[in-house]
Amino acid sequence: MPLERLSMNLATVREQWTFEEAVVGCREAGIATIAPWRDQLEHCGIARARRLISDYGMSISGLCRGGFFPYDGARERRAAVDDNLRAIEEAAAIGAGCLVLVCGGLPAGSRNIAGAREQIEELISKILPEARSAGVPLGIEPLHPMYAADRSCVNTLAQANDLCDLLGEGVGVVIDLYHVWWDPRLSGEIARTGEAGRILGLHLCDWLVPTRDLATDRGMMGDGIIDIPLVRGWVDRAGYKGACEVEIFSALNWWKRPAGEVLEVAKQRFVSVC
Ligand code: ZN
Repeated sequence: MPLERLSMNLATVREQWTFEEAVVGCREAGIATIAPWRDQLEHCGIARARRLISDYGMSISGLCRGGFFPYDGARERRAAVDDNLRAIEEAAAIGAGCLVLVCGGLPAGSRNIAGAREQIEELISKILPEARSAGVPLGIEPLHPMYAADRSCVNTLAQANDLCDLLGEGVGVVIDLYHVWWDPRLSGEIARTGEAGRILGLHLCDWLVPTRDLATDRGMMGDGIIDIPLVRGWVDRAGYKGACEVEIFSALNWWKRPAGEVLEVAKQRFVSVC
């Protein structure tokens, strides 16, 4: 894939760099698109982050993340709504292409996954008017089913597409290879997402064998077992022409290396593998 389409998701260098260092470092590496996380922005301060983005001429492919909707009781519901409204404001403030939604697992003590899924639909629909008027598309990112209990009970692209069908304008899908590569219906659902014009992002990394940690042992593209060119071809044919984020949570490897080296390897693999 041509380097112009690379966006560096700042989770990839979160242990090495602050937001400011990442902006400078990515610019020096010839990367002009990034996707920050809210804690990184908060640490920098939104006003200062905005200035850095504009001074360095950076584009923001997405802001990670809103979501965590399922609630137990009125207080938790209000907190989830408020936090997501703040996330929409932050995404608008930095000109993010979308707000990525990690929709949330079951409320504490609950065994009701169907109910949690209903609450996700309910609260996205609740915040959607604000997202629309702020011009911030909401990107539902289905997560691998191993995260259904604690991170998201939206686990397949089909489920994300069904949600988008229900919710309408202003909601789309972020496709992360790590979460969906195993799905036997993947090619059809990618085509469906594309037909509806709702692919908001593509996240790249690889699935290592063995995986030593379920959250923080993702691989660099080419080091694992995902047929990245195959899936990328499906996403291409579905009409997606936007940024492709390199997003690697790697406590055991890449977070321990100098960030400049991580960026160089990511660039090489983006061109040679993806
Ligand atoms: Zn992702």
